[in-house]
Amino acid sequence: MSSSNKIQKKTKSIDATKKLAEKIKKQALLKQKELQKSSNQDADADADNSTTHTALSKATSTSPVSSTVDPDAQLKFNTFAELKLVPDLLEAIQQLKYTKPTPIQSEAIPYALEGKDIIGLAVTGSGKTAAFAIPILQSLWHAQTPYFGLILAPTRELAFQIKETFDALGSTMGLRSVCIVGGMDMMDQARDLMRKPHIIVATPGRIMDHLEHTKGFNLKNMKYLVMDEADRLLDMDFGPVLDKILKVIPAKRTTYLFSATMTNKIEKLQRASLNNPVKVSVSTKYQTADNLIQSMMLVNDGYKNTILIHLLNEFMGKSTIVFTRTVAHAQRTALLARILGFNAVPLHGQLSQAQRLGSLNKFKSGTVNILVATDVAARGLDIPSVDLVINYDVPTDSKSYIHRVGRTARAGRSGKSISLITQYDLEMYLRIEQALDKKLPKEDKPAREILDALHIHVDKATAEAIRQTKEIHDKRGNGRRRKNYDDDREEK
Ligand code: AMP
Repeated sequence: MSSSNKIQKKTKSIDATKKLAEKIKKQALLKQKELQKSSNQDADADADNSTTHTALSKATSTSPVSSTVDPDAQLKFNTFAELKLVPDLLEAIQQLKYTKPTPIQSEAIPYALEGKDIIGLAVTGSGKTAAFAIPILQSLWHAQTPYFGLILAPTRELAFQIKETFDALGSTMGLRSVCIVGGMDMMDQARDLMRKPHIIVATPGRIMDHLEHTKGFNLKNMKYLVMDEADRLLDMDFGPVLDKILKVIPAKRTTYLFSATMTNKIEKLQRASLNNPVKVSVSTKYQTADNLIQSMMLVNDGYKNTILIHLLNEFMGKSTIVFTRTVAHAQRTALLARILGFNAVPLHGQLSQAQRLGSLNKFKSGTVNILVATDVAARGLDIPSVDLVINYDVPTDSKSYIHRVGRTARAGRSGKSISLITQYDLEMYLRIEQALDKKLPKEDKPAREILDALHIHVDKATAEAIRQTKEIHDKRGNGRRRKNYDDDREEK
């Protein structure tokens, strides 16, 4: 068969799968609505019988992850104007419409403005970036010297986000900032560094590469060091690179260390790098929101994809992150969802930097509503409006679980997480439940006939997704590996 015939045949089969899937989706939805309607009539005459709404409201009746939430904490200051910030900075804060500080800002900024080193226990979403950026920019306004601050972050995405916050807050004072991360051209970055930026946001491996190899670049005049998501920096084995960096930067500096958790390793890092720090903490507040509804669904491993498609169908249009354990699962699952007509993109460490940012931006802007991600995306990303987190694969530890589900129910919004548990995941799952100290409610499975009808088509689409995944993998070049320090540590 000629190659053009082959392509035509393949395209036809994809089109046929798509059409069938569309049909089956509609049928499943209708059936689901019918079932819902009759059960709603029995249970509650006033209930709204829209599938999504029912699922969310069902969820709101269960209890929160933890009770450590403290919504009534007194703020140390109520407006940024009280802080005697320079007018440029106040103007930028006004432009960003930050009317009052978040709790971590209220705790940290007054100490930081006194010149203290800070340990901040806070997660992404708490406003921690501005908590360290505002005092640094206030100090920079008076000094205006190059290489003033170095911000270290574990992932490229987080580094780009931090740079965005600095640029926004520094927009009125002529701030020059640069983002130095792996996967980008070293020569371009060397040129950017030669332009003497005030703020460098970097992943540790790549900035160390430049400190070692870029002529004329050093951080001898650096005044501020920030280690953001320090627990993750250490989890990703950046410890040795951090030690190296700490040796080549001035001992006389101000240091901020932000972390979601306080572990022994973090305490060791703190002793090695901070000087008489003040510890501020609003750590678990945003991860354990009252309005986060968690549940689990026991599924047969062979039906995992079918259940996933059923859930995507049920929550159609909702912003959803599907977490997978491996790159291959993320790639294949995103393709499967797309073949079946859903708006999904993958996010994992094997994509190029441009592809990763592309996926993230599409998801952030709402162009696509489903992000299929490995744990690279679980932390550090500022994705404000996620309605649903689906753990397609169970996370390997409770810390990752908390971080994954923390992507939803943020800033007062309601949110839901569903973990798919197969016969092979039980041991891992029970350990997570033990760490959470609670049993998660079981999600109802769809009716057997809906599942069976959907299964045939999902199976076909899965075969096509596997074929396309292989094609992508072959194109990328088997086994090609990036050598940067900041390769994401994730299973292939
Ligand atoms: P972060 O925890 O730094 O990732 O910040 C999470 C989000 O909160 C970002 O979108 C910030 O723009 C936003 N933010 C930070 N500080 C404030 C504030 N004081 N008021 C309102 N939004 C804020």
